[in-house]
Amino acid sequence: MPSSTPRDPLTRKLAGFGTTVFAEMSALAVRTGAINLGQGFPDTDGPAEVLDAAVHAIRSGQNQYPPGPGIPVLREAIAEHQRRFYGIELDPESEVLVTAGATEALAGALLGMLDTGDEVVVFEPMYDSYQAGIALAGAVARPVLLRPGPDGYTFDVDELHAAVSPRTKLILLNTPHNPTGKVFTADEMQVIAHLAIEHDLIVVTDEVYEHLVFTGSTHVPMATLPGMAQRTLTISSGGKTFNTTGWKIGWATGAEPLVAATRTAKQFLTFVNGAPFQPAMAVGLGLPDEFFAGVASGLEATRDALQAGLEAAGLIAFRAEGTYFTTVDVRPVRPDGDGVAFCRELPERCGVVAVPNQVFYANPEHGRHLVRFACCKRPEVIAEAVERLSRLAVA
Ligand SMILES: *Cc1c(COP(=O)(O)O)cnc(C)c1O
Repeated sequence: MPSSTPRDPLTRKLAGFGTTVFAEMSALAVRTGAINLGQGFPDTDGPAEVLDAAVHAIRSGQNQYPPGPGIPVLREAIAEHQRRFYGIELDPESEVLVTAGATEALAGALLGMLDTGDEVVVFEPMYDSYQAGIALAGAVARPVLLRPGPDGYTFDVDELHAAVSPRTKLILLNTPHNPTGKVFTADEMQVIAHLAIEHDLIVVTDEVYEHLVFTGSTHVPMATLPGMAQRTLTISSGGKTFNTTGWKIGWATGAEPLVAATRTAKQFLTFVNGAPFQPAMAVGLGLPDEFFAGVASGLEATRDALQAGLEAAGLIAFRAEGTYFTTVDVRPVRPDGDGVAFCRELPERCGVVAVPNQVFYANPEHGRHLVRFACCKRPEVIAEAVERLSRLAVA
């Protein structure tokens, strides 16, 4: 008789990558009727022109498999966007690849470029798909810690250098950065670029928040630094810029060998996606400069309101320079510094949901006392959340 307990089906590569805390926290939000500032998705629709273009595309029959690298109109719009905002010149034929969101571009890049045992230098905390993508590729993450301080999050240059070994193949970067809200400065980008050139490393850079940058900070794309265009794969997505996170239209751009390696893996992941959303995204990328500036300024107002509310509630809030997110240190309100417990109790205590930052760390201890709140909600929703959070201060 075979054993009645079937074998554990999960691959060793994914051991430890159980269901994410996002699912638990979003379920908690639904069950308690709390305001969900956990997962980062906006609660308003994007520009009408973009939505109308998708409807039109469906009605006009753009419903079958698009070309593997993406429809030409979108590839041209992506290349034109990189030229307009950053002066980067790309061949839409060979240096632009449309993907199923930035997530697939990341997976395609990691699976297409990494061999078993290769090492990846990556800053922690990090977007949750990075560690899983590196693990699926059989590679090893070498995390470098971003530490919060009075001038925002910074890293130690010696620690960055020490993370590089003869097995390092690439550096995985995210700026503007989720979950910290950090925008890497020109000096920091230069340090990373020098390291990449010195050790002949590829840089994969996730710039999905490129347009969500607040007053006082500037987004510096890695590919614009001297000597970096040839060794940088830039990843972005329309989800965050156009409030269309459910469309999953992303892209990877850069030198042909980097795009080709990514495409080689990508073609066996989804092959293609989002036929009617691709022309709509091209319309979005072609919107005037005022649209892009407006996206950031609208979000800056809710960032400010949320920041003030978090501080009034007695939390230490690290000022976000960009993105949807603000991170707080919970210790003034919860002296044991248990961010997971803080998040589990928050819906009952004051009707708000947040996520514990420890899920974004290779070493969860580093983020134990930190919690992330999203500001990408309507001003009245943020105002209500702030009102509810004020109960923390009196409690
Ligand atoms: C949201 C997000 C992504 C995923 O983008 P999609 O286009 O939805 O796949 C990737 N990286 C970061 C840092 C994000 O916050």
